[in-house]
Amino acid sequence: MKKIFLLAGFASVTAFAQIDTTADEAFIRGIYDDALLNQQGYQWLHELCKEVGPRLAGSEGAERAVEWAQETLDTLGFDRVYLQPVEVPHWERGELSVAIAGSSIELNACALGGSVPTPEEGITAEVIEIPDVDDLKNYTREDIEGKVVFFSAPMRQTYINTGSAYGEAVKKRHTGAMEASKYGAAAVIIRSVTTRMDDAPHTGSMTYEGAEERIPSIALGYQSADRLHNALQQNPALKVNMTLTSQWFDPVMSYNVIGEIVGSEFPDEIAVVGGHLDSWDLAEGAQDDGAGSVQSMDGLFLLMRSGYEFKRTHRVVLYMNEEFGLDGAREYARVAQETGERHVIGIESDGGGDVPRGFSIQSLPSGVEAVESFKWFLEPYGLREYSIGWSGADIGQLRNDDAILLGYRADSQRYFDYHHAPTDVFESINARALQLGAASMASMLYLLDKYEVRP
Ligand SMILES: [Zn+2]
Repeated sequence: MKKIFLLAGFASVTAFAQIDTTADEAFIRGIYDDALLNQQGYQWLHELCKEVGPRLAGSEGAERAVEWAQETLDTLGFDRVYLQPVEVPHWERGELSVAIAGSSIELNACALGGSVPTPEEGITAEVIEIPDVDDLKNYTREDIEGKVVFFSAPMRQTYINTGSAYGEAVKKRHTGAMEASKYGAAAVIIRSVTTRMDDAPHTGSMTYEGAEERIPSIALGYQSADRLHNALQQNPALKVNMTLTSQWFDPVMSYNVIGEIVGSEFPDEIAVVGGHLDSWDLAEGAQDDGAGSVQSMDGLFLLMRSGYEFKRTHRVVLYMNEEFGLDGAREYARVAQETGERHVIGIESDGGGDVPRGFSIQSLPSGVEAVESFKWFLEPYGLREYSIGWSGADIGQLRNDDAILLGYRADSQRYFDYHHAPTDVFESINARALQLGAASMASMLYLLDKYEVRP
């Protein structure tokens, strides 16, 4: 047994009250036992990946995912399971072919999400290799006009936190076409934003906001990018042929899927746990974010089947369309504000299904202090890293001074190997790591609820 001192700021507990933690330690041990023995989340992930499959917002796969999630939540004993309508974009990637003219060098590529197509006859143009978007300033319009810009810089391998490397590297994917269009470029090719030096191309969102013209944008697998680079060294005047038949359609109605348990003491205070149900279309979206979706479902379900009586209202929210515009999260936050719902706790999992490391805390300092005072409960399970600042893309939409928002953090070393690539499949997930994550989220939810933590 260990005595801890609760900090001032816990609303209904006397400041610095001493509490006996033996019961909490045993409760949390039971949550981890259940998670590891039953592997419910892992079983759900298998269904989501193998029976539903890819689920880009606006696609039939996303529709099936909504049905699957609603049907699954319906069996778990929530007070209410409901769908929240969200309008989402509908884009299809069509076919892509890209080759070096007059060469048999193979280039593995995919369109970036939302790219416009090429003209029907394709684009044949010279290539200008530029490391990154910020390097465009070293060139004139004359250098670039009519050419395909090849942004070739790899994601930096030397960061320990790959999320930081991603944040730096993703600029060329997101804004590369827009920025290159200002120089009259015909199209953009990027080296995939990935930590893995294989040949899988990685897709992801891009923007044309501020573009002079909408030009096609595609990503090459890491090794393909090396091959194009080497070919350019041999022959700087080489041309590529590129044909892409992607298409934009009218927006589609889709849904956030929500399961709710009404709180026994503070029903008007809401705690949310969630991930995003949509994925990219190239694979099963196991890491991004099937893992976070089933961890959220299982996290709350672990507490439900433990017999714990929730003081606050708890919801699992499976957000629609994080990848392609955050529509679900924005709509959820908009409705919450419109109806005056008070969200006090949010936990998001959207960093893959690897072993737990900790939480990132978005809150006033008093909320940060409260969460950190629980740290030692989770240390035996490998959670030691707590950072302050950002929670997550979906939960972050709920930010306000009344809320403590947490991003669940899994180990990041493998995540960007799979992220947005055809390799993001169920087989890339380790069941124990995934289940430890679900138990970690459940345990934090439990502590925050039992001790009525508010910022
Ligand atoms: Zn994601």
